Amino acid sequence: MAAAQPKLTVLGSINVDHLLQVDAFPRPGETLTANQYDIVGGGKGANQAVAATKLGANVSMIGCVGKDAIGSQFVADFSAMGMDVSGIEAIEGAATGLAMIYVDANGENNIGIWPGANALLTKAKAAEHQSLIQDADLLLMQLESPIETLIEAAKLAKAAATQVILNPAPAKALPEELLEHVDMLTPNETEAELLTGIKVETLEDAQRAANKLHSDYGIKQVLITLGKRGVWLSQDGQGQQIEGFSVEAKDTTAAGDTFHGGLVTALLEGKPLIDAIVFGQGAAALSVTQMGAQSSIPSRQQTEQFLA
Ligand code: ADP
Repeated sequence: MAAAQPKLTVLGSINVDHLLQVDAFPRPGETLTANQYDIVGGGKGANQAVAATKLGANVSMIGCVGKDAIGSQFVADFSAMGMDVSGIEAIEGAATGLAMIYVDANGENNIGIWPGANALLTKAKAAEHQSLIQDADLLLMQLESPIETLIEAAKLAKAAATQVILNPAPAKALPEELLEHVDMLTPNETEAELLTGIKVETLEDAQRAANKLHSDYGIKQVLITLGKRGVWLSQDGQGQQIEGFSVEAKDTTAAGDTFHGGLVTALLEGKPLIDAIVFGQGAAALSVTQMGAQSSIPSRQQTEQFLA
């Protein structure tokens, strides 16, 4: 009998993204007509869960949507792509989380979020789904869910030797009680600065920030994503840059989420960390060549072709 495929559980947000393509961001008081409007699936948790599923991982998601049309549609879509949705609850009287996103001609974005049902993913709900967390090989979380829920999930994971990867996005100060349960932390430059007080401009800055995260919280692996410059990896007292891929960026929404989906998929397949980072970066590079969050995530086949 073949060995069971390793399991990933993603705990996090599920949003509907309203995406407006504009030439330039509206200034205060300005009204402008967009060039294009799309409604697509988003939310860092769902993006990362969808990315991992599309890239070949065995994924369960824990999260909340509203009891509304778009929420039901997402759950049906996730299930159809092969994700285990038993940990996603539809909450009566709540709206599915929502993001309003402008993308300008340079592919930069500007985002406003309404958490809706995501704010109702309580600590008790994480505990309810204890088995999804403890039966998983890896738990991946972000910061669009209540912090006490993340702490509860991280503690449950650690008690069962489930590896915890925290993508501390969007940038937010975090309690030690959460960080001390994290095996791998994956901030971007802004998030690394917020967590350490060290402005990350050069690679030396990235290592100094990583050292602080190692020493203050005992986090073993720190991966600082550097946009198109790639990733700074620090572990075992050493740091190194793993360069990204050069592509024409159209929309960087969900680059980080696609990177995470690819990274954890490859790690669960037993790939060495550097190779997993390269796989994640390949998928992320492809995603920035397309518009949207979940809609921009490439397939396994596209990613393998790109990397070949
Ligand atoms: P976030 O989206 O969370 O801010 P980053 O911008 O650091 O994260 O991007 C995450 C990863 O996505 C990077 O490490 C890189 O591999 C890839 N990436 C992001 N932007 C680009 C780009 N313009 N071109 C190629 N790869 C990119």
